[in-house]
Amino acid sequence: MVIIGLSTNQDLSGGKNCMPPDYVSAVLRAGALPVILPTVPASAPGYDELMDKAINAVDGIVFTGGPDIDPKYYREKRLPGCHEPVPERDRADLSLMQRAVAVRKPILAICRGIQVLNVALGGSLYQDLPSQLNLPLSHQQPDHPQAHRVLAEKDTLLQSLVQETSLEVNSRHHQAIRDLAIGLKVSARSEDGVIEAVEFEDGRPALGVQWHPENLSKDSPAHQALFDWLVRSSERRA
Ligand code: MN
Repeated sequence: MVIIGLSTNQDLSGGKNCMPPDYVSAVLRAGALPVILPTVPASAPGYDELMDKAINAVDGIVFTGGPDIDPKYYREKRLPGCHEPVPERDRADLSLMQRAVAVRKPILAICRGIQVLNVALGGSLYQDLPSQLNLPLSHQQPDHPQAHRVLAEKDTLLQSLVQETSLEVNSRHHQAIRDLAIGLKVSARSEDGVIEAVEFEDGRPALGVQWHPENLSKDSPAHQALFDWLVRSSERRA
């Protein structure tokens, strides 16, 4: 049985760890056991060993959505449009990502996750799309399951999985990748040019998407295919 780790979201008001159930359901539909990884405080004794253990304990990992990453991690000061960061989660996600990439653990990085992937590898973000770019599309449409289309690049892992060049996606983000990290390549953009999906140039098993496939996967095979791929890639290691 494949075990897929889910990075924990945090309820900012109550400080509680939480997990939107659609992530759990999408992994279960793919035939694997989802295991929620706690946000280990950086002050915990043996922090590095705990984080190594967390990565070793899972066969693949989903980096889930969440709040803005502190721009200090991409060498910028926080602009007024960038929300308050959550230091413990930044630290936990970035350490988990660096470890997952180092050991070539299969990764599906969603929304904040694609941003964590890019920042962990040295890339940067737009801190706030509406104030930094004058875009024709709104990428913050929480109530629309089909907010905009993304265009998949040819000969990419993403295109092979969704089997389409154009895909309708939801969109709940006000940030996006700005400078792409070395080693990554763009696998899809929205029609207004925002980077919506990335993967590795060297073909290692990792995929980042700016939308939320877990909310669409119940009714859409193209979105469930991302979770099925993650579990299939993780099987070889289980
Ligand atoms: Mn979008």
